[in-house]
Amino acid sequence: MKITTQSPEIQKKVTTLLELLGEVNDLQSAAALLNWDQATYMPSGGGAARGRQLATLERLAHEKFTDVAIGQLLDQLESYRQTLAPETDEAALLRETRRRYELATRVPPSFTEKMTNHVADAYEVWAKARPADDFAVVVPYLEKTLDLSRQLADYFPGYQHIADPLIDRNDYGMNVATLRPLFSDLRTRLQPLVKAISEQPQVDDSCLAQHFPEQQQLDFGVGVIQQFGYDFTRGRQDKTYHPFMTKFSLGDVRITTRIREDHLGECLFSTMHETGHALYEQGIDASFERTPLAEGTSSGVHESQSRLWENQVGRSLDFWHHYYPQLQATFPAQLGTVGLETFYRAINKVQPSLIRTDADELTYNLHVAIRFELELALLEGKLAVKELPDAWDELYATSLGVTAPSPRDGVLQDVHWFAGTIGGAFQGYSLGNILAAQFYAQAIQAHPAIPTEIAEGQFATLYDWLRENIYQHGAKFTTAELVQRVTGESLSLTPYFDYLRGKFGAIYQIEL
Ligand code: ZN
Repeated sequence: MKITTQSPEIQKKVTTLLELLGEVNDLQSAAALLNWDQATYMPSGGGAARGRQLATLERLAHEKFTDVAIGQLLDQLESYRQTLAPETDEAALLRETRRRYELATRVPPSFTEKMTNHVADAYEVWAKARPADDFAVVVPYLEKTLDLSRQLADYFPGYQHIADPLIDRNDYGMNVATLRPLFSDLRTRLQPLVKAISEQPQVDDSCLAQHFPEQQQLDFGVGVIQQFGYDFTRGRQDKTYHPFMTKFSLGDVRITTRIREDHLGECLFSTMHETGHALYEQGIDASFERTPLAEGTSSGVHESQSRLWENQVGRSLDFWHHYYPQLQATFPAQLGTVGLETFYRAINKVQPSLIRTDADELTYNLHVAIRFELELALLEGKLAVKELPDAWDELYATSLGVTAPSPRDGVLQDVHWFAGTIGGAFQGYSLGNILAAQFYAQAIQAHPAIPTEIAEGQFATLYDWLRENIYQHGAKFTTAELVQRVTGESLSLTPYFDYLRGKFGAIYQIEL
Protein backbone atom coordinates (compact mmCIF):
# COMPACT_ATOMS: atom_id res chain seq x y z
CA MET A 1 0.00 0.00 0.00
CA LYS A 2 1.25 3.46 -0.89
CA ILE A 3 2.34 5.43 2.16
CA THR A 4 1.98 9.16 1.61
CA THR A 5 3.69 10.65 4.66
CA GLN A 6 6.94 12.58 4.23
CA SER A 7 8.05 11.76 7.77
CA PRO A 8 10.59 8.87 7.76
CA GLU A 9 9.57 8.05 11.34
CA ILE A 10 5.88 7.61 10.51
CA GLN A 11 6.76 5.84 7.30
CA LYS A 12 8.77 3.31 9.30
CA LYS A 13 5.90 2.73 11.74
CA VAL A 14 3.36 2.20 8.96
CA THR A 15 5.77 -0.15 7.18
CA THR A 16 6.29 -2.15 10.39
CA LEU A 17 2.53 -2.34 10.97
CA LEU A 18 1.95 -3.52 7.39
CA GLU A 19 4.60 -6.21 7.79
CA LEU A 20 3.01 -7.51 11.01
CA LEU A 21 -0.46 -7.47 9.46
CA GLY A 22 0.96 -9.26 6.42
CA GLU A 23 2.28 -12.07 8.59
CA VAL A 24 -1.09 -12.41 10.34
CA ASN A 25 -2.69 -12.56 6.90
CA ASP A 26 -0.23 -15.27 5.77
CA LEU A 27 -1.16 -17.44 8.74
CA GLN A 28 -4.89 -16.90 8.15
CA SER A 29 -4.50 -17.71 4.46
CA ALA A 30 -2.64 -20.92 5.26
CA ALA A 31 -5.50 -21.89 7.60
CA ALA A 32 -8.01 -21.09 4.85
CA LEU A 33 -6.12 -23.38 2.48
CA LEU A 34 -6.26 -26.21 5.03
CA ASN A 35 -10.00 -25.59 5.42
CA TRP A 36 -10.51 -25.67 1.65
CA ASP A 37 -8.58 -28.92 1.40
CA GLN A 38 -10.64 -30.42 4.22
CA ALA A 39 -13.86 -29.55 2.37
CA THR A 40 -12.68 -30.84 -1.02
CA TYR A 41 -9.91 -33.45 -1.28
CA MET A 42 -8.74 -34.48 2.20
CA PRO A 43 -9.16 -38.18 2.93
CA SER A 44 -11.38 -38.77 5.97
CA GLY A 45 -8.41 -40.16 7.89
CA GLY A 46 -6.88 -36.67 7.93
CA GLY A 47 -9.66 -35.17 10.05
CA ALA A 48 -8.17 -35.30 13.55
CA ALA A 49 -4.75 -33.98 12.53
CA ARG A 50 -6.34 -31.28 10.40
CA GLY A 51 -8.32 -30.05 13.39
CA ARG A 52 -5.09 -29.68 15.38
CA GLN A 53 -3.26 -27.99 12.52
CA LEU A 54 -6.03 -25.45 12.08
CA ALA A 55 -6.20 -24.77 15.81
CA THR A 56 -2.44 -24.12 15.89
CA LEU A 57 -2.49 -21.76 12.91
CA GLU A 58 -5.50 -19.87 14.21
CA ARG A 59 -3.90 -19.51 17.65
CA LEU A 60 -0.67 -18.20 16.13
CA ALA A 61 -2.57 -15.73 13.95
CA HIS A 62 -4.59 -14.54 16.94
CA GLU A 63 -1.50 -14.17 19.17
CA LYS A 64 0.35 -12.28 16.49
CA PHE A 65 -2.54 -9.93 15.80
CA THR A 66 -3.30 -9.20 19.46
CA ASP A 67 0.38 -8.61 20.24
CA VAL A 68 0.90 -5.44 22.22
CA ALA A 69 3.28 -4.24 19.45
CA ILE A 70 0.29 -3.75 17.10
CA GLY A 71 -1.63 -1.87 19.78
CA GLN A 72 1.36 0.41 20.40
CA LEU A 73 1.84 1.12 16.69
CA LEU A 74 -1.87 1.95 16.34
CA ASP A 75 -1.64 4.31 19.35
CA GLN A 76 1.50 5.97 17.98
CA LEU A 77 -0.13 6.41 14.56
CA GLU A 78 -3.41 7.76 15.93
CA SER A 79 -2.47 11.44 15.63
CA TYR A 80 -1.17 10.79 12.12
CA ARG A 81 -4.44 9.10 11.23
CA GLN A 82 -6.34 12.20 12.29
CA THR A 83 -4.38 14.31 9.80
CA LEU A 84 -5.41 12.05 6.93
CA ALA A 85 -8.51 12.60 4.81
CA PRO A 86 -10.95 9.86 5.89
CA GLU A 87 -11.27 8.61 2.31
CA THR A 88 -7.61 7.77 1.88
CA ASP A 89 -6.44 4.17 1.86
CA GLU A 90 -4.12 4.77 4.79
CA ALA A 91 -6.87 6.26 6.96
CA ALA A 92 -9.10 3.31 6.13
CA LEU A 93 -6.32 0.85 6.91
CA LEU A 94 -5.64 2.38 10.33
CA ARG A 95 -9.35 2.64 11.15
CA GLU A 96 -10.15 -0.91 10.08
CA THR A 97 -7.09 -2.35 11.84
CA ARG A 98 -8.03 -0.52 15.03
CA ARG A 99 -11.58 -1.85 14.86
CA ARG A 100 -10.41 -5.43 14.41
CA TYR A 101 -7.79 -5.05 17.10
CA GLU A 102 -10.49 -3.97 19.55
CA LEU A 103 -12.66 -6.94 18.52
CA ALA A 104 -9.76 -9.34 18.99
CA THR A 105 -8.40 -7.95 22.26
CA ARG A 106 -11.53 -7.16 24.26
CA VAL A 107 -12.54 -10.78 24.46
CA PRO A 108 -10.26 -12.74 26.83
CA PRO A 109 -8.65 -15.85 25.31
CA SER A 110 -10.21 -17.95 28.10
CA PHE A 111 -13.69 -16.92 26.94
CA THR A 112 -12.87 -17.64 23.29
CA GLU A 113 -11.66 -21.08 24.27
CA LYS A 114 -14.79 -21.75 26.32
CA MET A 115 -16.99 -20.62 23.42
CA THR A 116 -15.05 -22.67 20.84
CA ASN A 117 -15.28 -25.81 22.95
CA HIS A 118 -18.96 -25.29 23.65
CA VAL A 119 -19.77 -24.68 19.99
CA ALA A 120 -17.92 -27.86 18.99
CA ASP A 121 -20.07 -29.83 21.49
CA ALA A 122 -23.29 -28.09 20.45
CA TYR A 123 -22.58 -28.85 16.79
CA GLU A 124 -22.00 -32.54 17.52
CA VAL A 125 -25.27 -32.76 19.45
CA TRP A 126 -27.20 -30.90 16.75
CA ALA A 127 -25.77 -33.11 13.97
CA LYS A 128 -27.37 -36.09 15.71
CA ALA A 129 -30.48 -34.33 17.04
CA ARG A 130 -31.67 -33.15 13.65
CA PRO A 131 -31.97 -36.56 11.98
CA ALA A 132 -33.36 -37.92 15.26
CA ASP A 133 -35.92 -35.08 15.29
CA ASP A 134 -35.15 -34.40 18.94
CA PHE A 135 -35.33 -30.78 20.08
CA ALA A 136 -35.24 -31.59 23.81
CA VAL A 137 -31.66 -32.84 23.60
CA VAL A 138 -30.35 -29.52 22.23
CA VAL A 139 -32.14 -27.33 24.80
CA PRO A 140 -29.35 -27.23 27.42
CA TYR A 141 -26.78 -26.55 24.68
CA LEU A 142 -28.79 -23.73 23.17
CA GLU A 143 -29.35 -22.27 26.63
CA LYS A 144 -25.61 -22.19 27.17
CA THR A 145 -25.04 -20.72 23.69
CA LEU A 146 -27.52 -17.99 24.54
CA ASP A 147 -25.77 -17.32 27.82
CA LEU A 148 -22.36 -17.18 26.12
CA SER A 149 -23.74 -14.94 23.35
CA ARG A 150 -24.92 -12.47 25.98
CA GLN A 151 -21.53 -12.63 27.72
CA LEU A 152 -19.77 -12.00 24.43
CA ALA A 153 -21.92 -8.92 23.80
CA ASP A 154 -21.07 -7.64 27.25
CA TYR A 155 -17.37 -7.39 26.35
CA PHE A 156 -18.47 -4.46 24.16
CA PRO A 157 -20.28 -2.21 26.62
CA GLY A 158 -22.15 0.87 25.54
CA TYR A 159 -24.45 -0.90 23.12
CA GLN A 160 -28.08 0.10 22.67
CA HIS A 161 -29.32 -3.44 22.16
CA ILE A 162 -27.62 -6.61 23.32
CA ALA A 163 -27.63 -8.00 19.76
CA ASP A 164 -25.76 -4.94 18.41
CA PRO A 165 -22.21 -6.16 19.19
CA LEU A 166 -23.05 -9.54 17.65
CA ILE A 167 -24.46 -7.98 14.49
CA ASP A 168 -21.53 -5.59 14.33
CA ARG A 169 -19.06 -8.46 14.02
CA ASN A 170 -20.46 -9.47 10.61
CA ASP A 171 -22.18 -6.31 9.43
CA TYR A 172 -20.15 -3.50 10.90
CA GLY A 173 -22.21 -0.39 11.57
CA MET A 174 -25.58 -2.16 11.43
CA ASN A 175 -27.68 -2.44 14.57
CA VAL A 176 -31.09 -3.45 15.88
CA ALA A 177 -32.38 0.13 15.73
CA THR A 178 -31.88 0.09 11.93
CA LEU A 179 -32.59 -3.56 11.23
CA ARG A 180 -35.74 -4.17 13.28
CA PRO A 181 -37.87 -1.63 11.37
CA LEU A 182 -36.28 -2.80 8.11
CA PHE A 183 -37.23 -6.43 8.73
CA SER A 184 -40.67 -5.47 9.96
CA ASP A 185 -41.24 -3.41 6.80
CA LEU A 186 -39.83 -6.21 4.67
CA ARG A 187 -42.22 -8.73 6.16
CA THR A 188 -45.27 -6.51 5.97
CA ARG A 189 -44.61 -5.79 2.31
CA LEU A 190 -43.62 -9.31 1.28
CA GLN A 191 -46.53 -11.18 2.83
CA PRO A 192 -49.23 -9.78 0.49
CA LEU A 193 -47.02 -10.48 -2.56
CA VAL A 194 -46.50 -14.08 -1.49
CA LYS A 195 -50.21 -14.45 -0.73
CA ALA A 196 -51.25 -13.04 -4.12
CA ILE A 197 -48.86 -15.40 -5.92
CA SER A 198 -49.98 -18.40 -3.84
CA GLU A 199 -53.51 -17.83 -5.13
CA GLN A 200 -52.34 -18.19 -8.76
CA PRO A 201 -52.08 -21.53 -10.59
CA GLN A 202 -48.93 -23.44 -9.64
CA VAL A 203 -45.95 -23.12 -11.96
CA ASP A 204 -44.82 -26.41 -13.47
CA ASP A 205 -41.12 -26.82 -12.75
CA SER A 206 -40.88 -30.52 -13.60
CA CYS A 207 -38.48 -29.72 -16.48
CA LEU A 208 -35.75 -29.12 -13.89
CA ALA A 209 -36.20 -32.48 -12.20
CA GLN A 210 -34.74 -34.79 -14.85
CA HIS A 211 -31.42 -36.55 -15.25
CA PHE A 212 -28.68 -34.03 -16.10
CA PRO A 213 -25.20 -35.64 -16.30
CA GLU A 214 -22.63 -34.07 -14.00
CA GLN A 215 -19.92 -33.14 -16.49
CA GLN A 216 -22.27 -31.26 -18.82
CA GLN A 217 -23.66 -29.29 -15.88
CA LEU A 218 -20.15 -28.37 -14.76
CA ASP A 219 -19.02 -27.38 -18.26
CA PHE A 220 -22.06 -25.22 -18.83
CA GLY A 221 -21.53 -23.42 -15.50
CA VAL A 222 -17.86 -22.78 -16.24
CA GLY A 223 -18.77 -21.28 -19.62
CA VAL A 224 -21.20 -18.88 -17.93
CA ILE A 225 -18.93 -17.71 -15.13
CA GLN A 226 -16.01 -17.10 -17.46
CA GLN A 227 -18.29 -14.73 -19.36
CA PHE A 228 -19.27 -13.07 -16.05
CA GLY A 229 -15.59 -12.23 -15.57
CA TYR A 230 -14.36 -14.94 -13.18
CA ASP A 231 -10.62 -15.25 -13.82
CA PHE A 232 -9.52 -18.90 -13.81
CA THR A 233 -5.86 -17.84 -13.80
CA ARG A 234 -6.60 -16.45 -10.33
CA GLY A 235 -9.01 -19.10 -9.13
CA ARG A 236 -10.43 -22.56 -9.65
CA GLN A 237 -13.60 -24.53 -9.02
CA ASP A 238 -13.88 -27.84 -7.16
CA LYS A 239 -16.66 -30.01 -5.85
CA THR A 240 -17.78 -29.99 -2.21
CA TYR A 241 -20.75 -30.76 0.00
CA HIS A 242 -21.73 -27.22 1.07
CA PRO A 243 -20.60 -24.78 -1.66
CA PHE A 244 -18.48 -21.81 -0.55
CA MET A 245 -15.94 -19.27 -1.80
CA THR A 246 -12.51 -18.92 -0.21
CA LYS A 247 -9.43 -16.84 -0.79
CA PHE A 248 -5.73 -17.33 -0.09
CA SER A 249 -4.58 -14.14 -1.81
CA LEU A 250 -6.03 -11.72 -4.35
CA GLY A 251 -4.42 -13.97 -6.97
CA ASP A 252 -6.09 -17.15 -5.68
CA VAL A 253 -9.84 -16.86 -5.07
CA ARG A 254 -11.55 -20.25 -5.27
CA ILE A 255 -15.11 -21.43 -5.57
CA THR A 256 -16.75 -24.77 -4.92
CA THR A 257 -19.96 -26.27 -6.19
CA ARG A 258 -22.28 -29.23 -5.68
CA ILE A 259 -24.03 -31.16 -8.42
CA ARG A 260 -27.30 -33.01 -8.28
CA GLU A 261 -27.83 -35.09 -11.37
CA ASP A 262 -31.56 -35.26 -10.69
CA HIS A 263 -32.03 -31.47 -10.57
CA LEU A 264 -30.63 -28.76 -12.82
CA GLY A 265 -30.90 -25.76 -10.49
CA GLU A 266 -28.50 -26.73 -7.72
CA CYS A 267 -25.15 -26.64 -9.54
CA LEU A 268 -25.91 -23.82 -11.93
CA PHE A 269 -27.26 -21.26 -9.48
CA SER A 270 -24.87 -22.07 -6.65
CA THR A 271 -22.01 -21.71 -9.14
CA MET A 272 -23.25 -18.27 -10.13
CA HIS A 273 -23.76 -17.41 -6.46
CA GLU A 274 -20.24 -18.35 -5.35
CA THR A 275 -18.86 -16.64 -8.45
CA GLY A 276 -20.51 -13.40 -7.32
CA HIS A 277 -18.62 -13.68 -4.02
CA ALA A 278 -15.41 -14.45 -5.93
CA LEU A 279 -15.74 -11.57 -8.41
CA TYR A 280 -15.90 -9.22 -5.42
CA GLU A 281 -12.69 -10.64 -3.94
CA GLN A 282 -10.83 -10.90 -7.27
CA GLY A 283 -11.74 -7.29 -7.98
CA ILE A 284 -10.19 -5.76 -4.84
CA ASP A 285 -7.42 -3.19 -5.36
CA ALA A 286 -4.15 -5.14 -5.60
CA SER A 287 -2.39 -2.64 -3.30
CA PHE A 288 -4.59 -3.86 -0.40
CA GLU A 289 -3.01 -7.34 -0.51
CA ARG A 290 -2.08 -8.78 2.91
CA THR A 291 -3.97 -6.03 4.77
CA PRO A 292 -7.35 -6.10 6.54
CA LEU A 293 -8.75 -4.05 3.64
CA ALA A 294 -8.29 -6.96 1.21
CA GLU A 295 -11.72 -8.47 1.70
CA GLY A 296 -15.39 -7.66 1.23
CA THR A 297 -16.66 -5.10 3.70
CA SER A 298 -19.54 -7.01 5.34
CA SER A 299 -21.72 -10.11 5.12
CA GLY A 300 -24.52 -8.02 3.66
CA VAL A 301 -22.47 -6.45 0.87
CA HIS A 302 -20.80 -9.77 0.12
CA GLU A 303 -24.16 -11.47 -0.17
CA SER A 304 -25.42 -8.63 -2.38
CA GLN A 305 -22.77 -9.55 -4.94
CA SER A 306 -23.54 -13.27 -4.91
CA ARG A 307 -27.27 -12.57 -5.13
CA LEU A 308 -26.88 -9.99 -7.89
CA TRP A 309 -25.12 -12.45 -10.22
CA GLU A 310 -27.34 -15.36 -9.20
CA ASN A 311 -30.71 -13.59 -9.30
CA GLN A 312 -30.72 -10.20 -11.01
CA VAL A 313 -28.54 -11.63 -13.79
CA GLY A 314 -28.79 -15.44 -13.68
CA ARG A 315 -32.52 -15.74 -13.14
CA SER A 316 -33.45 -12.99 -15.61
CA LEU A 317 -35.29 -13.50 -18.86
CA ASP A 318 -32.62 -11.45 -20.67
CA PHE A 319 -29.89 -13.82 -19.55
CA TRP A 320 -31.79 -16.86 -20.75
CA HIS A 321 -32.64 -15.27 -24.09
CA HIS A 322 -28.97 -15.70 -24.80
CA TYR A 323 -28.14 -18.85 -22.85
CA TYR A 324 -31.23 -21.02 -23.18
CA PRO A 325 -30.47 -22.19 -26.74
CA GLN A 326 -27.00 -23.21 -25.49
CA LEU A 327 -28.52 -25.03 -22.52
CA GLN A 328 -30.95 -26.82 -24.83
CA ALA A 329 -28.04 -27.81 -27.09
CA THR A 330 -26.23 -29.18 -24.01
CA PHE A 331 -29.28 -31.17 -22.86
CA PRO A 332 -31.32 -31.79 -26.04
CA ALA A 333 -33.15 -34.86 -24.72
CA GLN A 334 -34.17 -33.12 -21.48
CA LEU A 335 -34.91 -29.57 -22.67
CA GLY A 336 -35.24 -29.77 -26.45
CA THR A 337 -39.03 -29.49 -26.34
CA VAL A 338 -39.25 -27.21 -23.29
CA GLY A 339 -39.81 -23.59 -24.30
CA LEU A 340 -37.85 -20.63 -22.93
CA GLU A 341 -40.89 -19.23 -21.14
CA THR A 342 -41.60 -22.56 -19.38
CA PHE A 343 -37.98 -22.86 -18.28
CA TYR A 344 -37.84 -19.24 -17.08
CA ARG A 345 -41.00 -19.68 -15.00
CA ALA A 346 -39.66 -22.94 -13.56
CA ILE A 347 -36.41 -21.37 -12.29
CA ASN A 348 -38.43 -18.55 -10.71
CA LYS A 349 -41.21 -20.57 -9.12
CA VAL A 350 -42.54 -19.05 -5.90
CA GLN A 351 -43.84 -21.42 -3.28
CA PRO A 352 -43.98 -20.96 0.49
CA SER A 353 -41.96 -23.79 1.97
CA LEU A 354 -40.47 -25.01 5.22
CA ILE A 355 -36.77 -24.97 4.44
CA ARG A 356 -34.88 -21.68 4.14
CA THR A 357 -32.10 -22.96 1.89
CA ASP A 358 -34.64 -24.26 -0.65
CA ALA A 359 -36.70 -21.07 -0.63
CA ASP A 360 -37.35 -18.99 -3.73
CA GLU A 361 -36.21 -15.41 -4.23
CA LEU A 362 -39.42 -13.96 -2.80
CA THR A 363 -40.13 -16.07 0.28
CA TYR A 364 -36.47 -16.38 1.33
CA ASN A 365 -36.53 -13.15 3.31
CA LEU A 366 -39.53 -14.27 5.31
CA HIS A 367 -37.46 -17.21 6.57
CA VAL A 368 -34.67 -14.81 7.54
CA ALA A 369 -37.04 -12.32 9.19
CA ILE A 370 -38.43 -15.10 11.40
CA ARG A 371 -34.97 -16.06 12.61
CA PHE A 372 -33.99 -12.46 13.21
CA GLU A 373 -37.08 -11.83 15.32
CA LEU A 374 -36.58 -15.02 17.36
CA GLU A 375 -32.92 -14.24 18.00
CA LEU A 376 -33.79 -10.82 19.37
CA ALA A 377 -36.53 -12.25 21.58
CA LEU A 378 -34.11 -14.85 22.97
CA LEU A 379 -31.38 -12.30 23.64
CA GLU A 380 -33.86 -9.90 25.23
CA GLY A 381 -35.01 -12.66 27.57
CA LYS A 382 -38.57 -12.46 26.21
CA LEU A 383 -38.42 -15.98 24.85
CA ALA A 384 -37.03 -19.05 26.60
CA VAL A 385 -35.15 -21.67 24.58
CA LYS A 386 -37.72 -24.33 25.43
CA GLU A 387 -40.48 -22.11 23.99
CA LEU A 388 -38.59 -21.77 20.70
CA PRO A 389 -40.35 -24.55 18.70
CA ASP A 390 -43.80 -23.10 19.41
CA ALA A 391 -42.68 -19.57 18.62
CA TRP A 392 -41.08 -20.87 15.43
CA ASP A 393 -44.26 -22.65 14.30
CA GLU A 394 -46.42 -19.65 15.07
CA LEU A 395 -44.27 -17.32 12.97
CA TYR A 396 -44.13 -19.80 10.08
CA ALA A 397 -47.90 -20.12 10.16
CA THR A 398 -48.50 -16.37 10.13
CA SER A 399 -45.70 -15.42 7.72
CA LEU A 400 -45.64 -18.29 5.26
CA GLY A 401 -48.79 -20.24 5.98
CA VAL A 402 -46.87 -23.49 6.51
CA THR A 403 -46.20 -25.60 9.59
CA ALA A 404 -43.32 -28.00 10.05
CA PRO A 405 -44.53 -31.51 10.87
CA SER A 406 -41.64 -31.83 13.35
CA PRO A 407 -38.53 -29.92 14.56
CA ARG A 408 -36.29 -31.49 11.93
CA ASP A 409 -37.86 -29.30 9.23
CA GLY A 410 -38.54 -26.49 11.67
CA VAL A 411 -36.43 -25.08 14.42
CA LEU A 412 -33.60 -27.61 13.98
CA GLN A 413 -32.99 -26.96 10.29
CA ASP A 414 -30.21 -24.34 10.39
CA VAL A 415 -26.67 -24.94 11.53
CA HIS A 416 -26.12 -21.30 12.57
CA TRP A 417 -27.27 -21.42 16.20
CA PHE A 418 -25.21 -24.57 16.65
CA ALA A 419 -22.07 -23.26 15.01
CA GLY A 420 -21.62 -19.89 16.70
CA THR A 421 -23.53 -17.24 18.59
CA ILE A 422 -27.27 -16.67 18.73
CA GLY A 423 -27.52 -13.28 17.05
CA GLY A 424 -25.61 -11.67 14.22
CA ALA A 425 -25.63 -14.46 11.64
CA PHE A 426 -28.86 -14.07 9.69
CA GLN A 427 -29.33 -10.38 8.88
CA GLY A 428 -26.65 -10.48 6.16
CA TYR A 429 -28.76 -12.71 3.92
CA SER A 430 -31.63 -10.26 3.68
CA LEU A 431 -29.35 -7.22 3.57
CA GLY A 432 -27.74 -8.93 0.59
CA ASN A 433 -31.04 -9.31 -1.26
CA ILE A 434 -32.02 -5.72 -0.58
CA LEU A 435 -28.63 -4.30 -1.53
CA ALA A 436 -28.37 -6.44 -4.67
CA ALA A 437 -31.50 -4.74 -6.01
CA GLN A 438 -30.34 -1.30 -4.90
CA PHE A 439 -26.89 -1.65 -6.51
CA TYR A 440 -28.29 -3.23 -9.68
CA ALA A 441 -30.85 -0.44 -10.12
CA GLN A 442 -28.01 2.06 -9.82
CA ALA A 443 -25.87 0.19 -12.38
CA ILE A 444 -28.75 0.26 -14.86
CA GLN A 445 -29.39 3.92 -14.22
CA ALA A 446 -25.73 4.60 -15.06
CA HIS A 447 -25.75 2.23 -18.05
CA PRO A 448 -29.27 1.60 -19.38
CA ALA A 449 -27.90 -0.81 -22.02
CA ILE A 450 -26.91 -3.43 -19.40
CA PRO A 451 -30.04 -5.62 -19.82
CA THR A 452 -29.67 -5.55 -23.63
CA GLU A 453 -26.03 -6.54 -23.29
CA ILE A 454 -26.95 -9.38 -20.94
CA ALA A 455 -29.42 -10.59 -23.57
CA GLU A 456 -26.40 -10.82 -25.91
CA GLY A 457 -24.29 -12.68 -23.34
CA GLN A 458 -22.17 -9.59 -22.59
CA PHE A 459 -21.45 -8.69 -18.97
CA ALA A 460 -18.45 -6.40 -19.22
CA THR A 461 -20.30 -3.13 -18.60
CA LEU A 462 -21.95 -4.49 -15.48
CA TYR A 463 -18.77 -6.13 -14.24
CA ASP A 464 -16.70 -2.98 -14.82
CA TRP A 465 -19.28 -0.85 -13.02
CA LEU A 466 -19.31 -3.21 -10.02
CA ARG A 467 -15.55 -3.36 -9.93
CA GLU A 468 -15.21 0.41 -10.12
CA ASN A 469 -17.92 1.18 -7.57
CA ILE A 470 -17.80 -1.76 -5.16
CA TYR A 471 -15.16 -4.45 -5.66
CA GLN A 472 -11.98 -2.39 -5.77
CA HIS A 473 -12.72 -0.79 -2.39
CA GLY A 474 -12.61 -4.03 -0.42
CA ALA A 475 -13.22 -3.19 3.25
CA LYS A 476 -12.27 0.47 2.79
CA PHE A 477 -15.83 1.74 3.32
CA THR A 478 -18.48 0.52 5.74
CA THR A 479 -21.73 -0.86 4.32
CA ALA A 480 -23.55 2.41 5.00
CA GLU A 481 -20.75 4.52 3.47
CA LEU A 482 -20.60 2.32 0.40
CA VAL A 483 -24.36 2.40 -0.18
CA GLN A 484 -24.34 6.18 0.17
CA ARG A 485 -21.37 6.58 -2.18
CA VAL A 486 -22.71 4.21 -4.83
CA THR A 487 -26.40 5.12 -4.84
CA GLY A 488 -26.46 8.59 -3.29
CA GLU A 489 -28.99 7.27 -0.79
CA SER A 490 -29.09 5.18 2.35
CA LEU A 491 -30.21 1.55 2.48
CA SER A 492 -33.66 1.38 0.88
CA LEU A 493 -36.30 -1.25 0.19
CA THR A 494 -37.75 0.67 -2.77
CA PRO A 495 -35.53 -0.75 -5.55
CA TYR A 496 -35.98 -4.24 -4.12
CA PHE A 497 -39.77 -4.09 -4.18
CA ASP A 498 -39.77 -2.45 -7.62
CA TYR A 499 -37.68 -5.38 -8.80
CA LEU A 500 -39.86 -8.04 -7.15
CA ARG A 501 -43.14 -6.50 -8.31
CA GLY A 502 -41.90 -6.07 -11.87
CA LYS A 503 -40.42 -9.52 -12.20
CA PHE A 504 -42.97 -11.66 -10.40
CA GLY A 505 -45.92 -9.57 -11.58
CA ALA A 506 -44.88 -10.43 -15.15
CA ILE A 507 -44.23 -14.10 -14.39
CA TYR A 508 -47.56 -14.61 -12.64
CA GLN A 509 -49.39 -12.07 -14.79
CA ILE A 510 -50.87 -10.20 -11.85
CA GLU A 511 -50.67 -6.65 -10.54
CA LEU A 512 -48.47 -6.80 -7.44
ZN1 ZN B 1 -23.45 -16.38 -0.23
